[in-house]
Amino acid sequence: MTPRQNSPQIGDEQVKLLERLSNACAVSGDEGEVRKIVLSEVKPFASEVKVDALGNVLVTRKGVGDRCMRVMLAAHMDEVGLMLTHDEKDGIYRFEAVGSIQAADLAGKAIWIGKEHIPGVIGLKPLHLGNGDDRKRPVDMDDLHLDVGLVSGKEKVGDRATFATTFVQIGPSLRGKALDDRLGVATLIELVKTAPPNIDLLAAFTVQEEIGSRGARVAAYAFNPDLAIILDSTPAYDLPAWDTDENVRYNSRLGAGPAIYIADAGTLSDPRLVRYLIRIAEENNIPYQLRQPGGGGTDAGMIHRQRAGVPSVSVSVPGRYAHSPASIVRLSDWQDTMSLVSIALHSLPPDLLTVDR
Ligand SMILES: [Zn+2]
Repeated sequence: MTPRQNSPQIGDEQVKLLERLSNACAVSGDEGEVRKIVLSEVKPFASEVKVDALGNVLVTRKGVGDRCMRVMLAAHMDEVGLMLTHDEKDGIYRFEAVGSIQAADLAGKAIWIGKEHIPGVIGLKPLHLGNGDDRKRPVDMDDLHLDVGLVSGKEKVGDRATFATTFVQIGPSLRGKALDDRLGVATLIELVKTAPPNIDLLAAFTVQEEIGSRGARVAAYAFNPDLAIILDSTPAYDLPAWDTDENVRYNSRLGAGPAIYIADAGTLSDPRLVRYLIRIAEENNIPYQLRQPGGGGTDAGMIHRQRAGVPSVSVSVPGRYAHSPASIVRLSDWQDTMSLVSIALHSLPPDLLTVDR
């Protein structure tokens, strides 16, 4: 990581902020805990801050002059998790997943429930009591229940639950829950604080991305931007190939820099924005990678087709084990993502979107 001009640097302060964001609980539709942190961080730097009807935080930081490009940046505040759906008495609850979670990631995990982070566990029948067939069968959501150990009484149906994972730095890496997309949130906070004067920065800290980018849809309508850059975290499945010659479906790799999207399941990125980001990365010696096209998606899926259309591109920090109790990411990828987007904003040519695609 070499310091670059026009790029905020990630130091202890930024890692501490990410730690607070990662440890906060904000399953879709219940983003208040993260929203509170965002509001306190951005308010001193904003021209205007609004919390809209769905709970998005919409921050405007105006540039100098009245002909600035209106650049929307988006990062989602919510995380995947669980919702208590039925009280079975004795501190036991049935639940449903909120967002995409696989049952295999749930069994036996410690959780926090509700705004008070009530501790609990996701229970599965112990192996001692199963027969051979039980052990071969994949875990199903219906085999699982939540257990708070009888005593709390403060939790209720409708409360959300998240993995009880505490953030930690491990050398050049970070481990935590919900780094998808608290990394984007932490990056966007820093970009608001260091916004350049040549653009109107429109920062959307969105709600409900994990259940279909519902917040981003209304945020883009409200901002009506000229273009949008979406900051997220994308899976890295860059593991050694134990049983094949080569691992060719890794999506993205740790340590290879920001993952620029050409396409995903919901969006074809605007080629002018893709080319521009690649040029900025190469001119500034910032490592970057093109995320493998295919499945998955970001808030871009809703933003790019709002109103008369919004040229959009996503840039993600790669992370292993997304939507599980703990992800692993590299500090260098976070820094390089921050640098790429920050420098791209500082040098944004006013005629970027007038050239042919
Ligand atoms: Zn995400």
